Amino acid sequence: MAAEGDVVDLRGQYLLPGFVELHVHGGGGADFMDLTVEAFRTVARCHARHGTTTMTPTSTVGSFEQYRRFLEINAELDGTADGGARLVGGHLYGPYFRPDARGCHPAAAFLTPEPGRDAELLAFAGRGLRTLTVAPELPGALALIRAARERGLLVTAGHTYATFAELRTGVEAGVRHVDHLFCAMSDRARLRQAQAFPMRAGVLEGTLAFDELTTEVIADGHHLDEGLLHFAYKVKGPDRLALVSDTMRAVDCPDGEFWFGAVGTGERVRKLGSGGVTLDGAGLASAVVGFDHAVRLMASYPWADLPAVARMASLTPARILGLDHECGSLADGKRADLVVMDADFRVTAVYVGGVKIAN
Ligand SMILES: [Zn+2]
Repeated sequence: MAAEGDVVDLRGQYLLPGFVELHVHGGGGADFMDLTVEAFRTVARCHARHGTTTMTPTSTVGSFEQYRRFLEINAELDGTADGGARLVGGHLYGPYFRPDARGCHPAAAFLTPEPGRDAELLAFAGRGLRTLTVAPELPGALALIRAARERGLLVTAGHTYATFAELRTGVEAGVRHVDHLFCAMSDRARLRQAQAFPMRAGVLEGTLAFDELTTEVIADGHHLDEGLLHFAYKVKGPDRLALVSDTMRAVDCPDGEFWFGAVGTGERVRKLGSGGVTLDGAGLASAVVGFDHAVRLMASYPWADLPAVARMASLTPARILGLDHECGSLADGKRADLVVMDADFRVTAVYVGGVKIAN
């Protein structure tokens, strides 16, 4: 740690607040669903090298026992940073998807909300669990959303084909965020029956319409084209739109085949350079580039100015997580979570809580 009074000359480079990650599954060869402390540390160290200083480890579809273990490790590591990004509690992602909106996640085990069983998972709220994704149209979802909000969780809607009205009901129950805008969600086209009018709005349109909702985009340059990123930025604005990496384990790994999710029970996917991974050659299954890539891409667009890009990378996700009192901007009293980037927005140094991360 730099001693008080030390001066570091950044030689004209950019100094940004450390990136705050809402949605990340893996990196550096490890996935949080490997369910070991070492795997969590490996992912956190990998992403710290890309500028991420705070993250919510995100699960993928698995069994109830896998979810419980995932939350136990999150509880054990909550608030710690061991040479990597600080872990701030898990994002439970997977059990409450709508099965036909599962995307790349393994078909293994979906849970429909059931108060007794849910309570065991919600008991980790406050230590080990910070965010819960629920498709609001599932039977029992509204009671689960209310129970999660009562425990202080961030409730997000994701992998959902809800109608506009179902999403609004979810918002009334406590949904405040929507996972990866444009991906695995209903919209006017999906809800349209042949030749039927009027056309109907879905989760996409509801997310853009409801001011209560924040959302996020995977800005890896492969999931969404510039037009969709511009559209999301224009409609939601940098205070309601966060950048996420949504990466799996192949970050910083050579091309090849990988498990998405747990080894043995996840899905086999193939990495295609920096372009993400595909499942059976059909569509993109996840991203493989760090958070710095998203910042670099957004900063290259003339319609997004740099302070707004930094906000979407740090302060906005920190506020979404309820952590903006301690991180997300460079301010007195906050953690010294810092990213130094050169003129091309390449990371040259990262500090987590004032401690420089080894490259
Ligand atoms: Zn997803």
